Amino acid sequence: MSRPQKNKKIFPARRLAVVCILVSVAAWILFCFYIGPVPSDRSAFLVKVLLAETIKNAVISAPKIGQIIDLNSHVVIKEGTSFDNNVFFAYKSSVIMDITPLNTSRVRLIPAAGATIKIDNNEYRGEIDVYAEKETLTIINRVDLEDYLKGVLPGEMNRLWPFETQKAQAIVSRSYAAHLILKKSHKDYDLKCNTFSQVYCGKTCERVLTSLAVDKTRDMILSYDGKILPGYFHSTCGGHTESAKDMWGEKDTPPLRGVKCENCKWSPYYSWKVGLTPETISTKLVAAGYKCGKIDDIRASEYTGSGRVKFLGILSGDALTKISASQFISIMGNRLLRSTKFTIEKWKYHYNFCGNGWGHGVGMCQWGAFKLGIKFKKCSEILAYYYPGAKVADLVEVLRGYAHHTLPRVELSDSPHGSVG
Ligand SMILES: [Zn+2]
Repeated sequence: MSRPQKNKKIFPARRLAVVCILVSVAAWILFCFYIGPVPSDRSAFLVKVLLAETIKNAVISAPKIGQIIDLNSHVVIKEGTSFDNNVFFAYKSSVIMDITPLNTSRVRLIPAAGATIKIDNNEYRGEIDVYAEKETLTIINRVDLEDYLKGVLPGEMNRLWPFETQKAQAIVSRSYAAHLILKKSHKDYDLKCNTFSQVYCGKTCERVLTSLAVDKTRDMILSYDGKILPGYFHSTCGGHTESAKDMWGEKDTPPLRGVKCENCKWSPYYSWKVGLTPETISTKLVAAGYKCGKIDDIRASEYTGSGRVKFLGILSGDALTKISASQFISIMGNRLLRSTKFTIEKWKYHYNFCGNGWGHGVGMCQWGAFKLGIKFKKCSEILAYYYPGAKVADLVEVLRGYAHHTLPRVELSDSPHGSVG
């Protein structure tokens, strides 16, 4: 009696599945061997990330909370409690948890060891500060710098890109964050969680390979002349990266002068063309507070060394409005006019903006770094290309060169109540 037909199909399928699993395990072992050991020592620098401001309320869940602390009096308000979709809001400069007034304008939620806190749809490591002011809330995540970076990389770079490119991004993002922490430009936080600083979405978006890239580069930063180099980066330079001096008027720094880049030609943003009518441009400028009537002409009036427009002159009757190109593309929409590297074509009923690249153009061109990673360039070679003269250095070592500055250290999830002031 012959066996049922279906069994004949199942066995090859099972064999194939087993082979696939074995190949996957072997590939993972080879990959781990390729990347080498991951440093185990923890630097535990604190970074404060603004998650939201001037919001009416936030839904917070935390299965295991160690403590809720009143940051004004430093008194423990609650201990050993848990939240499940509790609505926090502000009333007369006091934080309200559901219907319970916490009788203070500032609280800190400290999770139990290893636990996380969920705010709306995102889960965060570290601690959460909630501030009430003028009937609105500000929410800040206090988190270990390395954990922070694990929540940054997947939002800033495709997680399937080459591992050496991911490592370069981890070092660049760490350098940028460390630079801003030292800069202390805001009293309550160091960075925002969006493209104004770096995109950060907490534990929710962490992925295995991007986290591995962070672990593998632990404490590594870019340095120049003994100081932390701001790790500026952008999507696509469009042929030449920009000088930080020309873009933002910063001090002339050799690694940030800009380099020729032909690596990003395959970026979908390498070249673009957008048509805008004079009426659309005028409406947006007026909405942004500019006095602008019927537009008669638009001309680029100044260029940077890398070919980006510095200023635009907008002619309306006898009035000439001078506006920086960065401000102009911000008003028109950064997803419409993706960079200031453009030329203008005047047509009968509209203007064509023919551009290259996406972003400010300073520092590492991500699509260029992708191409270098595909060509098996090492992380150090990618960084040397985009930041010529800069070194990859140890963050702790570089901080020793700062006379009056240091990064605050923190012990967060290692201890249940390990908050710092
Ligand atoms: Zn490029």
